[in-house]
Amino acid sequence: MRILLVEDDPLLGDGIRAGLKLADYAVDWVCDGEAARLALLDHAYQACVLDLGLPKRDGLWLLKDLRERGNQLPVLILTARDSSADKIAGLDAGADDYLTKPFDLFELQARLRALIRRAGGNATPRLEHAGVVLEPASKRVSRDGQPVTLSAREFALLRDLLSHKNHIRTRAQLEESLYAWGEETGSNTVEVYIHHLRKKLGAQFIRTVRGLGYRLGDPG
Ligand code: CA
Repeated sequence: MRILLVEDDPLLGDGIRAGLKLADYAVDWVCDGEAARLALLDHAYQACVLDLGLPKRDGLWLLKDLRERGNQLPVLILTARDSSADKIAGLDAGADDYLTKPFDLFELQARLRALIRRAGGNATPRLEHAGVVLEPASKRVSRDGQPVTLSAREFALLRDLLSHKNHIRTRAQLEESLYAWGEETGSNTVEVYIHHLRKKLGAQFIRTVRGLGYRLGDPG
């Protein structure tokens, strides 16, 4: 899952990025509204964490622009502006949630989990398929009730596949979801992680759709 972080405060941005990476999100961090606009045009994100006071274009402008283009991306506003009027303006411009600075990083993580699962049409906090259960909050994974240990990338890949249960995911989409800008992506890394997941979750759990990508196998 890839998240766009738009924050011009270097210390705060660095802290948020580190916190989100710990939750196994790939994070692209930009420091002004124009860079954010371009990133949103170029990449598929699962959520955006948006500061309001930004150089070049402010957060509200960005949000209105995004919604005018019909983009449904979940957006959480981070703002130092704590007046009700600012919160109302943000929500009315199309934000899904907001947090007022200073805030707790764990609360930010939890709110993002909620936004992402709602956007996926899922109100329950667990992702589940064919006996495999993934709990995003605790990062626990089990197969037929037995705990399964996954690396951070394997976890992120499984979370992506379970979040798009009835869809074929292309290798490019999975790579976009797993890696932020500038992160090393070897040529076969998605295949390697798929291979590891099949060893741990069963050979039929992830199916290859020839020429298209991957999808979860039929529950059986
Ligand atoms: Ca700011």
